[in-house]
Amino acid sequence: MTHLYFTGFDCLGCRAAYAPDEDLLLCPRCPHLLEARYDLARFGREVDRDALARRPAGVWRWRELLPVLDPARIVTLGEGGTPFLRSERLARACGVRELWLKSDAANPTGSLEDRSITVSATKAMEFGYEVLACDSTGNKASSTAADAARAGLRSVVFCPKDTPRPKMAQAVFLGARLIRVDGHYSQINAMSLVKTWKNFNELRALGWIDRLPKMTAVQAARCAPIVESWKKGLPRVEPVEKQPTIASAVAAADPGLLGDQALAAVRASDGDGLAVEKAEIIEAVRRLGQEGLMLEPSGAVTVAAVRRGVQDGLVDRILDLAEIPRQVVSGYEAMLAEAVGI
Ligand SMILES: [Zn+2]
Repeated sequence: MTHLYFTGFDCLGCRAAYAPDEDLLLCPRCPHLLEARYDLARFGREVDRDALARRPAGVWRWRELLPVLDPARIVTLGEGGTPFLRSERLARACGVRELWLKSDAANPTGSLEDRSITVSATKAMEFGYEVLACDSTGNKASSTAADAARAGLRSVVFCPKDTPRPKMAQAVFLGARLIRVDGHYSQINAMSLVKTWKNFNELRALGWIDRLPKMTAVQAARCAPIVESWKKGLPRVEPVEKQPTIASAVAAADPGLLGDQALAAVRASDGDGLAVEKAEIIEAVRRLGQEGLMLEPSGAVTVAAVRRGVQDGLVDRILDLAEIPRQVVSGYEAMLAEAVGI
């Protein structure tokens, strides 16, 4: 039974505990998000790590560590298990010995959002919902629409009114009803840092790793509240004024509690914060294109940050920075602008 190790939810704010079958979006005692709790000690005793490794690759290989009650209702298009690609040219360009790319473009709709939405869609089926909804600037909209279609649910996507049309084309094609709103896309992207840190801590609790990595917060310079708060040494994230940026999917002017959690993860891991400029992001998009990978700017900020981290001395420089000849493609910038909304 999958749910033997999933023991409920804890509020990230007031730490109230809730049962695993409670249908809650937020903590009813305060406005904060909930995180799943697992009996890791029991899991470590009873589950054979090597047996898990022999399962098919993908998110659901780890189903005992996902907050699912009924494995018969899993909604999936085959998420996860995406390739690690070693890039020697990018390593040279960044001045490091090795650089590996986790290509989540190999997910069903082409982004990392597929990893979480497969779980969200499964929970929606467990609770008997008929509509899957999200707020998004593109990637999560596609994931939501795809899994809703897969499950036979309807989908609704709320997006900022200035979201480029190409970024919503996939979701609309997959059946989503699009509602443009005059508001901010605020909280969501701090979640990926926060949850990665939680996962590493769970792996250490299981004894599967013996040390934790340093977590580095990376944001676009025009909208970098977590990085700026880190540099100021603030205990909580101070919101910034919303500025347009090409990396719109990581532009959270007021990341709220998740931003605070991300800041705490950076601090607890003795990590750092890096903000990268538009030119650096575009250069990273271009370099990734030379590796055969087409990323929208938000997905390229981490590559831009590696090079910046070496230049700033946060990452050990192993090699001299190398210049990579640019591939001159007719209409390149215009094509990029049309495709990814620059
Ligand atoms: Zn609470």
